[in-house]
Amino acid sequence: MDLRQKNKTNPSKRQANMGSFAPNTGKMKTNFVPRVNQLDSIQLDNEITNLLRQQIQNILQVLPPGLLSHLQPEINFVLNSALWNFSIRTHYATFGQQMLSIAYEKDQLPSAKLALHYLLTTVLPYAKENAQFRLTSWSRVQKLLQLAENALVLFNLVNFFKFLRSGTRPSLVDCLLRINHRSLDGAKRRTIGYSYMTRELVWAGFLELLGFTIPFVNYHALKRKLRNLLRIEAAPQRQDERVELTADTRCAYCNERVILPHHMGCRHVFCYLCLKGNQLADAGFQCNVCDYRSETFRKVVVL
Ligand SMILES: [Zn+2]
Ligand SMILES: [Zn+2]
Repeated sequence: MDLRQKNKTNPSKRQANMGSFAPNTGKMKTNFVPRVNQLDSIQLDNEITNLLRQQIQNILQVLPPGLLSHLQPEINFVLNSALWNFSIRTHYATFGQQMLSIAYEKDQLPSAKLALHYLLTTVLPYAKENAQFRLTSWSRVQKLLQLAENALVLFNLVNFFKFLRSGTRPSLVDCLLRINHRSLDGAKRRTIGYSYMTRELVWAGFLELLGFTIPFVNYHALKRKLRNLLRIEAAPQRQDERVELTADTRCAYCNERVILPHHMGCRHVFCYLCLKGNQLADAGFQCNVCDYRSETFRKVVVL
């Protein structure tokens, strides 16, 4: 019986809706709120509440432990009540909605409904939190609470699908109280600045190009050629000098104590890895002190 009634009323309702929207589209358009704004307002509200809770937590941490921690549900209740009072009661919009220039239809929220809204959004969560916090030993209550919470999740999901289809009343409370959002600054769609995105893309492309080309540049050879170019005096001709290795000898390349001393033919000593690494990177590697050049190198033998 009930179902049939619903089926009967639904088409007529839709027609009525369409009828009321079609002739004065102007009015509908000014009140239109995009779905994304409505969802964002909920997200913002959650963020604001969490932010304030975190602040209160930080303050409570300074106090001696156990002084106020057992009053957690009450603290949250007071915070939520204050938020509700300064947003919904006075402005008919939550803070998240105010940030996005949305508000509830004022005429849809008479004082009785306002009280109901307070009950559903503030008192009920407090009762739930209180029961979860205090009645931990009452397994039956906990089980019931769990069940109610699961049902709530399910109802929320159903309501969300309904919202996606209709574009109104994103939260369960809105749906229960039959209150709609309306836009405060006309039918402004969200404008997304694509110029930033384009700039970001250009930068990303440029960085990718750099990442691709830089490994091809032989930076060691380039450095050597540049150094030779800038050097005015000619490199001194190499005389047959003996390699000297003492306890204080430092590597000509890394200037650290030499590890596995090797030399190219001049009197300068290199670590094996410094020499090998440089010769692998740049086939024309020159001694960076005397510019002696050789493609081979030998171990320094201490006589
Ligand atoms: Zn070295
Ligand atoms: Zn040298």
